[in-house]
Amino acid sequence: MADAKAAQSARAPHPARWDVVIVGGGPAGLATAIAATGQGLSVLVLERRAFPPDKVCGEGVLPPGVRALEHLGVFPYLDRRWTHRFSGIRFIQEDRSSIEALLPGAGGLGIRRTALVEAMTRRAQDLGAVVRHQCAVYRVVREPTQVVVHTSVGTVCGRMVVAADGLNSLLRRTAGLEADSSWRRRFALRQHFRVQPWTDLVEVYVDRVGEAVVTPVSDDCVNVNFVWEDGVIAEPGVQSLARRFPALQLRLAGAPAISSAQGAGPMPRRVTGRCSDRMALVGDAAGFVDSISGDGLSVALNSALLLGRHLPAVLADGAMRASMRTYERAARRLFRRYWLVTTGLLVLARHPRARAAAINYLATHRAIGAALTRRAMQMMVSVA
Ligand SMILES: Cc1cc2nc3c(=O)[nH]c(=O)nc-3n(C[C@H](O)[C@H](O)[C@H](O)COP(=O)(O)OP(=O)(O)OC[C@H]3O[C@@H](n4cnc5c(N)ncnc54)[C@H](O)[C@@H]3O)c2cc1C
Repeated sequence: MADAKAAQSARAPHPARWDVVIVGGGPAGLATAIAATGQGLSVLVLERRAFPPDKVCGEGVLPPGVRALEHLGVFPYLDRRWTHRFSGIRFIQEDRSSIEALLPGAGGLGIRRTALVEAMTRRAQDLGAVVRHQCAVYRVVREPTQVVVHTSVGTVCGRMVVAADGLNSLLRRTAGLEADSSWRRRFALRQHFRVQPWTDLVEVYVDRVGEAVVTPVSDDCVNVNFVWEDGVIAEPGVQSLARRFPALQLRLAGAPAISSAQGAGPMPRRVTGRCSDRMALVGDAAGFVDSISGDGLSVALNSALLLGRHLPAVLADGAMRASMRTYERAARRLFRRYWLVTTGLLVLARHPRARAAAINYLATHRAIGAALTRRAMQMMVSVA
């Protein structure tokens, strides 16, 4: 089906100059493609990996992200066998004391990354976007009237380029939009295990070095992400990291790994701005704090919806930086709220005593815990 679609879009007449060339076929790039094609723009997505591109991610989509996916019309395309509802998040400390934060409404959704991008790609293609895989962008030249995008398989032209190339964005760096960060760097390692989820909560096992996050992504598979701070673990590997969390190790005993272990980082990534002449940044490329709050996908999808809404006006106005001011301001607001929630959690995680005190307090004052969770969800801007 996906191959047929790809062949069909390859046969369709392509414009000599696309309205929008999107670099990166992850959630942010594809959401931008769906939003832009939905408004009649011609869109080309360039993705360096083979289809469907995988990536290290907790794969838990929080309510603002679920709403964005609904708004983008992705659900009818989703292979439901690779999804699993979760009703909240459970934090588990070294002494096994824990606290549960229930999510509002229908809760969140665990979605295997490959299933998510497959569904989003099909939706984008159905709307008319052309998505090319195994096509790495290595240079973007922004000329006064167009952008010229050099890729591993040739050159394409567009009226503007969208940088949706993730955490380590080449486009952000070469456009001079990357800022230094004084935060300690964190890294992650991910693997999937074949085991029936033992709870409908996302579990976060914490210790003084980092955390292990377990997300159910199907009826017989969980995704485990280990996160740690730079320099504190000599030889990070799934086995050595799992040993830090005996309660989790017990749960996974005998469960076969069904994906290869993959690494990610460093986090965080800061930006000096999200727009430049003929270029806009979206998703992780537009700034990433940390995985601890599990809201990167919600931010990526909502920032893409935001950009998609602004694109027709931006293009009509020449696609120079000045024409993107409204998007820049709205995106800054969206990221600032995400920064606040995520930084708060990160600071707490880095101070084990304060973290233990907070968790123990909230465990005995559940109404306050529920109110804080609701507030955190409200703080994540939902554009959908
Ligand atoms: C350890 C970890 C756990 C996380 N857990 C969660 C979670 O549970 N829930 C949540 O909501 N978020 C989570 N996140 C965040 C989430 O993964 C990201 O926010 C989200 O993937 C951002 O989507 P994106 O499209 O911006 O970037 P990506 O998903 O990284 O996609 C970028 C795409 O661009 C492609 N690309 C890069 N460079 C080029 C190039 N030069 N040419 C062509 N293509 C290129 C890449 O191959 C990739 O497919 C987690 C992140 C980490 C690191």
